[in-house]
Amino acid sequence: MLKAELHVHSSISDGKDGVRKILNAAMEKKIDVISITDHDTVQGSLEALDIVEEEKLPIKILPGCEITSSSGHILAFGIIKDVEPKMSAEETCRVVRELGGVCFLAHPFDFIRGGSVRLKDFRIVDGVETFNAKSYFNFMAKRYAKKFSKPEIAGSDAHSARAVGLAVNYLPDNINLIESIFHARYDGKRVSIRERLAFLLFQLSQRL
Ligand SMILES: [Zn+2]
Ligand SMILES: [Zn+2]
Repeated sequence: MLKAELHVHSSISDGKDGVRKILNAAMEKKIDVISITDHDTVQGSLEALDIVEEEKLPIKILPGCEITSSSGHILAFGIIKDVEPKMSAEETCRVVRELGGVCFLAHPFDFIRGGSVRLKDFRIVDGVETFNAKSYFNFMAKRYAKKFSKPEIAGSDAHSARAVGLAVNYLPDNINLIESIFHARYDGKRVSIRERLAFLLFQLSQRL
């Protein structure tokens, strides 16, 4: 089994820490696979691939990003090229698949944080993030993932190195990485209110 963290933001989008610091934290937490899923850019993933290859680090990178589609956030895994934001969920998934990747709905029903609220989107994607460490709508995500028979993953939605590993997936290690996320089992814990507040204050301070 591989321990995988599939939802992390670096300072390339709105995260607090750089890719290097995130990789260090992940290795400290004995994570075997990580996906840096910055908003609308695979730059963080590309940087992670470079670092791991150059330094021969004992961690695997599943490249990806979190795409802002017109109906909500979609996690794309297995792509090394950027996908235009603001396209429909259908179009976004079509482009991601053309690039060899797969699409998972990110924190559906969490309308405050850009989650899709369209049931139709459950049919379009390949799978669903049914545990997001920051979402209060995981029970809904789970209910509809089951209804549409979609594979489920968990994500920390970490915006700092410290939050890496809050929600981890266990993947079989005898098949290729992209395929293995369709067989994920997971556990996780929800971020404390205190941590969420600290993050909000950090985001605010960046804007001032
Ligand atoms: Zn999101
Ligand atoms: Zn996210």
